[in-house]
Amino acid sequence: MVQRIYEAAAYQAGSLDGCYWVDTAPAGRRYPALDRAATADVAVIGAGFAGLSAALRLARAGRDVAVLDLHGPGWGASGRNGGFCCLGGAKASRQGMIRRFGADQHAHFRAAERAAIDHVEAVLQRYGIDADTHSHAGEVQLAHSAAAMRDLRHHADEARQDYGLSARLLEPGDLPGQGMAGHGFHGGLVLPAGFALNPRKYVLALAEAALDADVRIHADSPVTSIRQRGGRYQLATAQGRLSARQLLVATNGYASDDLPDWMRALYLPVQSSIIVTDPLGPDQIAAQGWSTDMMAFDTRNLLHYFRLMPNRRFLFGMRGGIGWTGREHRLIRQKIVAHFHRMFPAWSQVGISHFWSGLANLTRDLVPYAGPVDDWPDAFAAFGWHGNGVAMASWTGDQIARRMLGQGDDLPGFFSRDPRRFELGRHRRMSLRAAYAWYGLTER
Ligand SMILES: Cc1cc2nc3c(=O)[nH]c(=O)nc-3n(C[C@H](O)[C@H](O)[C@H](O)COP(=O)(O)OP(=O)(O)OC[C@H]3O[C@@H](n4cnc5c(N)ncnc54)[C@H](O)[C@@H]3O)c2cc1C
Repeated sequence: MVQRIYEAAAYQAGSLDGCYWVDTAPAGRRYPALDRAATADVAVIGAGFAGLSAALRLARAGRDVAVLDLHGPGWGASGRNGGFCCLGGAKASRQGMIRRFGADQHAHFRAAERAAIDHVEAVLQRYGIDADTHSHAGEVQLAHSAAAMRDLRHHADEARQDYGLSARLLEPGDLPGQGMAGHGFHGGLVLPAGFALNPRKYVLALAEAALDADVRIHADSPVTSIRQRGGRYQLATAQGRLSARQLLVATNGYASDDLPDWMRALYLPVQSSIIVTDPLGPDQIAAQGWSTDMMAFDTRNLLHYFRLMPNRRFLFGMRGGIGWTGREHRLIRQKIVAHFHRMFPAWSQVGISHFWSGLANLTRDLVPYAGPVDDWPDAFAAFGWHGNGVAMASWTGDQIARRMLGQGDDLPGFFSRDPRRFELGRHRRMSLRAAYAWYGLTER
């Protein structure tokens, strides 16, 4: 029995309805379902950035790889995110990470964040992928309060130390001149790293590259059980079976507590939702004073992230929500639109053409996991990008594949720690309710 912690609708094909990226890059190709008994060297569960990046490296090294997905490549978070290819991947504080894993490991992780961006850039170039990139000057973090601006001043120093980046502070009075006028911004910090992309174009092109390398990709092939027998992994899907010597579980926010049982409560999927506006005319852009194409996000825990895309549509995302029901979605939509109008009042009459949600994923330690599945030989899992997986999931997928090939990899040591479990078992998302209520009160 597959055990997931959100309502069934979150995992059904229709949960992608309303996603803007589908209009920009419809799935041209049909991927066959696995409908017979098959074998492979490696079975990969999950055709997102992590699973496909791993499959690509493994196949290019000569492994026979089969990738199975609930619905198809990019159906999960990878084809429906905000497209910020940026620093990140953990939610643990800087001090917490140093205390728990040591200064060297912390430094290693910071280097990995930068390497992850470079990895995506190199993949786009290598495979000639046109993913509508922009914001090559990096991203800006905007302070939502005067206290948050004081914190950003410290972050500027840390960014210099941790990433070697010449982070640049923007005082409140600087923002209009940078084309960054909005309501309630108390200054900002420009981090010159990363770029924006169309995530669906990127993930579908990754799938094409994997097919070209002879990876077999199966859509509509939900894995329903995994057994280890005779040194091989036996996966049952809705209509078929797959036997493989190596296994990679790359299901992230769409994981199940029993696929395999070891996954139980090791992860906490969290919702994030996005609206996209109709294209904005020059007068509308001038009226609001937001004309930069730089990726932007704010300092709230339930952060807002936004960017003006090359076609002048505005993408505005927000974390929050703990239920996948029609009622909950109507409430989230109302809330995200209200926040958008509050922050960008001149756009309160602008048409909103798209709204959708998806599941990102946390770990109990607030850092990614990429390592063995329990004590199973040759079985691995990679998950927990804390809402920043465009770069980190891609890079980690590629690196874990190196490990599976017996090559040297560059994963920080703590990625393979003995992971801790969340409390409250299958009801663990309820712990988010109190945290979200608190943030709602304290982060206006
Ligand atoms: C709305 C939203 C906005 C985001 N914005 C950003 C952003 O701007 N920048 C950023 O860096 N990150 C962002 N993220 C996070 C980022 O999208 C994810 O971290 C990343 O896509 C995770 O990739 P993945 O391959 O690990 O998992 P996913 O892409 O989620 O793939 C997991 C796959 O596993 C499959 N699966 C699950 N169970 C089974 C099963 N039993 N059998 C077969 N297949 C199965 C699913 O169908 C799914 O396709 C956002 C996430 C969301 C939801």
